[in-house]
Amino acid sequence: MKYWYTFLDGYRGYANYLWHEVTHPHWRNYVYWLLAVSLFFFALELLRPWRRDQPRLRKDFWLDAFYMFFNFFLFSLLIYNAASDVVVSAFNDLLASFGVRNLVALEIGSWPVWAQLFTLFLVRDFVQWNVHRLLHRVPALWEFHKVHHSVEQMGFAAHLRYHWMENVVYRSLEYLPLATIGFGIDDFFIVHLFTLTVGHFNHSNFKLELGPLKYLFNNPQMHIWHHAKHLPPEHPHGANFGLTLSLWDYLFGSAWMPKDGRDVELGFPGVESFPHGFVGQNLHGLVRETAPQDDGGDSP
Ligand SMILES: [Zn+2]
Ligand SMILES: [Zn+2]
Repeated sequence: MKYWYTFLDGYRGYANYLWHEVTHPHWRNYVYWLLAVSLFFFALELLRPWRRDQPRLRKDFWLDAFYMFFNFFLFSLLIYNAASDVVVSAFNDLLASFGVRNLVALEIGSWPVWAQLFTLFLVRDFVQWNVHRLLHRVPALWEFHKVHHSVEQMGFAAHLRYHWMENVVYRSLEYLPLATIGFGIDDFFIVHLFTLTVGHFNHSNFKLELGPLKYLFNNPQMHIWHHAKHLPPEHPHGANFGLTLSLWDYLFGSAWMPKDGRDVELGFPGVESFPHGFVGQNLHGLVRETAPQDDGGDSP
């Protein structure tokens, strides 16, 4: 019963929060920042497209626009925010039953705010890089992650095209490492905004020479190879797994940019028979499908 109330509170709390955000524009408002960042990259794609022959409203533009809204807001509204409160509550109860009351191993609450924000950003990006590698290596997880890799024409909105189960996987695996750090603040707005912006940038149809900064930050010229349909023998499970930072791929040998990737073919072997619509994609990996020989056996 306690978990059920936690669930209801989480659901109601998020619904109220979202409605409040929509009706009260202010400078730290996620709804309007998502719109603003999206319009910014859309304008760049229209003004200076990297692939000039790609349609301005590329294949699946509207599908991805819907994904953007769904994954950033609706999914949380529908279930995840409430469900994750329940998981955290149950998890803490489980730990308490073993006599563990506090997971915090590193207390950084007395650090300057910028140092705490930077620590969260760095730790989370590294954890996410590892989770992303798992999504490519574990066959059951790869089936979910195929949704993101079903993009055949790349643009900023493809950033948030992913299976709803990815939210569950990322947030569950992130929780434990982050819970071991004792933060003194709970407002990480600027970190979320920064990672949203770099994520949109990575997927945009736009070329920007970063110079030596490319070894630090992910970028469209690197991330396009992450979406390459055909992978080289040295990277059979994929390459360039970085979300915001490219640093991890350079440090651990998973960076791969053989040439200018402007016209590289995107997707994965068998993408042609992958579901095209939102419902089919979000059920993929959960129900047994009757599509025969859909990947030719070599999952990237
Ligand atoms: Zn991937
Ligand atoms: Zn991507």
